[in-house]
Amino acid sequence: MYRSMLFIIFILSITSCQEDLIPDEPDQTLGGDIPTELASYFKAFQEEASQHGIVVDYDEANVTAEIQKLNQGSVAGSCTTNGQDIRHITIDQEFWNKATHLIKEMVIFHELGHCVLGRGHKEDSFENGVCQSIMRSGLGSCQDAYVLENRAYFIKELFAGDD
Ligand SMILES: [Zn+2]
Repeated sequence: MYRSMLFIIFILSITSCQEDLIPDEPDQTLGGDIPTELASYFKAFQEEASQHGIVVDYDEANVTAEIQKLNQGSVAGSCTTNGQDIRHITIDQEFWNKATHLIKEMVIFHELGHCVLGRGHKEDSFENGVCQSIMRSGLGSCQDAYVLENRAYFIKELFAGDD
């Protein structure tokens, strides 16, 4: 019982430098408590998961999310979870104002990788230095290459895991 009180907080580093306030409104159709601005990304994750035979039920998993100023330097997102009934994703407001669609997707999928799939970090890189997984911490030495041409590979890796 005591163990369930321990939260694991994962953070992801990406440089950002802009500020703006956008209100969060819960999306009623998606389940969980997820702001409208994030809903399309959470839906995409659900659809990709289902392509890989994984059912994601945000209500069932008690997934909540918000966009908020994280005030942690270059941190773009975080997942706070006890692996059971708490799965909270925070996306940094400054990062959100500045990031491209694909980078937003990478960060949200990364945090959902922690909070929903239960994955930890993986820092492995290919010979050319590119990260093998979007589950990299952002603190290691590998380079991100989450571009359209690589998207299918990274999504497969996300749901298939390390094997
Ligand atoms: Zn992480």
